[in-house]
Amino acid sequence: MKLLLHICCAPCAVAVVDNLKQNQDIELSGFFYNPNIHPYEEFQKRKQSVAAMAEDYGIPMDYYDEFALEYWKNSLKGDKASRCRVCYAKRMDETAKLAREKGFDAFTSSLLISPYQDHELIKSLGEQMAQKYGIQFYYQDFRELFRKSQNMARGKGYYMQKFCGCMYSYDESDHPKKPIYYFETVK
Ligand code: SF4
Repeated sequence: MKLLLHICCAPCAVAVVDNLKQNQDIELSGFFYNPNIHPYEEFQKRKQSVAAMAEDYGIPMDYYDEFALEYWKNSLKGDKASRCRVCYAKRMDETAKLAREKGFDAFTSSLLISPYQDHELIKSLGEQMAQKYGIQFYYQDFRELFRKSQNMARGKGYYMQKFCGCMYSYDESDHPKKPIYYFETVK
C-alpha cells in the first residue's frame, strides 16, 4: 500500500514513521502541511526538523511552504474546540487531496499519536476527507507510542516545540522554555 503520512512535527512523527516502516506492506511517504504554525521562525524550525527526520528514515517528502498568516488569523479565531476543528480539517483535507492527486492508496496523520489532540475528531475528519476524495483513510491509534516518540526525538536532537502551533496556542502555553515571539501583526 502506498501511504501518505501527514507530518505535524518530528517529535510526534518519529515513532509513527518508525512503526510504519516496519510494516512490509506499506510504502511510506510524508507530507509537511502545517500553515497553522506561527510565527515563520517557528514554522522553519519545525520544517527543518521534519526534513532531518525524513532523511534519517529515508522517506520521500512533500512540503507546503506557504505561510498563510491572514487566513489563519481569521480562521482560527474563537474557542479552542472550533479553531482546532478548522485546523485539523484543513490539514486532513490537503493531505487527502495530495494523496489522491499523486496516486497514493491511503493517507493518515501523525496527529493520531498525540494524547493532547482531539483524537476522535481527527479520526472522524480523516474518514470524511477519505469519502470526499475517494481514497482510503489509514487509521491506527498511535497514542501508546507518544512517550517513546518524544524520547526518540530528544535522543536524535530534533527540535522540541513548546506550544501546539497557532498564535493562540502560543499565548495559552505556560511552558517555561517557550521561545519569545511577538505577534504584533496579528493582534
Ligand atoms: S491549538 Fe493546535 S490544533 Fe488547535 S488550532 Fe492551534 S495549532 Fe491547530
